[in-house]
Amino acid sequence: MIHLSAAIQRIQPSATLGVSARAAALKAQGHDIVSLSVGEPDFPAPDSARAAAIRAIEEGNNRYTAVEGTPALRRAIADKFARDNGLTFDPQDIVVSTGGKQILFNAIVATVEAGDEVIVPAPYWVSYPDMVAFAGGTPVPVPTRAADGYKMSPDALEAAITPATRWLILNSPSNPTGAVYTAAELGAFADVLRRHPQVWVMSDDIYEHIRYGAGAYATIAAIAPDLAKRTLTVNGASKAFAMTGWRIGFAGGPHALIEAMVKVQSQSTSNPCAIAQAATVGALTGDMGFLAERAAVFRERRDMVVARLSRVPGLTCPKPDGAFYVFPECEGLIGRVTPGGKTLRNDEEVAGYLLESGVAVVHGAAFGHSPAFRVSYATDTASLTTAMDRIEAAIAAIG
Ligand code: PLP
Repeated sequence: MIHLSAAIQRIQPSATLGVSARAAALKAQGHDIVSLSVGEPDFPAPDSARAAAIRAIEEGNNRYTAVEGTPALRRAIADKFARDNGLTFDPQDIVVSTGGKQILFNAIVATVEAGDEVIVPAPYWVSYPDMVAFAGGTPVPVPTRAADGYKMSPDALEAAITPATRWLILNSPSNPTGAVYTAAELGAFADVLRRHPQVWVMSDDIYEHIRYGAGAYATIAAIAPDLAKRTLTVNGASKAFAMTGWRIGFAGGPHALIEAMVKVQSQSTSNPCAIAQAATVGALTGDMGFLAERAAVFRERRDMVVARLSRVPGLTCPKPDGAFYVFPECEGLIGRVTPGGKTLRNDEEVAGYLLESGVAVVHGAAFGHSPAFRVSYATDTASLTTAMDRIEAAIAAIG
């Protein structure tokens, strides 16, 4: 029998990828399923990225690049951080990886070990706690409430910090709730963090460009420049540029941390795909007009989905300011009985019942908050309307 390491036994496979795979398998068997489980925009990659990729292929861009990314891409990322976020990075302090996921993984593996705690406001993106557990650390979820827009308070942050706290992970806009922290709210976190110099901040800004509120985007290293020396600012091509499959993520941060992340990468995957790097230079230096157009499309879908879910008895659905997810609570469905005679005991069973009813969503437990489920509205309006009709009918049918 194979021996599995303690590290691998501490983690679970990604629940979101699992639900998406199950929905795809049911579809392949001929079932009519609308999948609202995936976290990827349904738009094409920008022309600027596609043209740059084709050029890179034609020019024979076939070789390894520097482990940390090409000089051209690191320069373009430094320019992006300056332009969009008011952050100044030397390109030496930027690393490019195979998706935002690898950036986060490298940072955690490079800095977290047994005895270390990492604060993750809940609901959280499914992978944070597992990455921390893989490294041997302890994830410390801080619960939030739908009534507060799923936002953590500075007091709750203060209460969660111990001498063993290594990191606070912030994710705004959030997957799965869509919550967006304002500059003032981040400033209040900074006030707490100044009292605790052992705590570093991982700011996962991957949904930066998918926002519906007025005003500029706020990221903590810009709001509190004195904390920049202990902040890793993470972003990538996946969500902004609808380039999930190209696998490019990046981060800027203190040099010693970036160096350690590059070391992990040098002994695992080496550089991210050379063609995808060239494509991302194209995207970051090309026309960005589509970002606002796409955010407007997402906003219309959000409004439709929130309006539809809010009128379903048993669901409470806050209206988020960003990302392409809503996270309705479903307390009112627990304990009720499906037409097939099954009692819905938890949100996994609610999601299972909705899947039987032709809609794939992800149960809240996977994100550390129950009972609830995540709906991704990164799909066309006709499919969303069908999905909302099915959810409404399925919930109306339970006793
Ligand atoms: N961070 C958050 C909050 C995400 O939702 C995702 C993807 O779903 C990632 C990071 C990883 O993105 P990538 O596809 O670039 O690895």
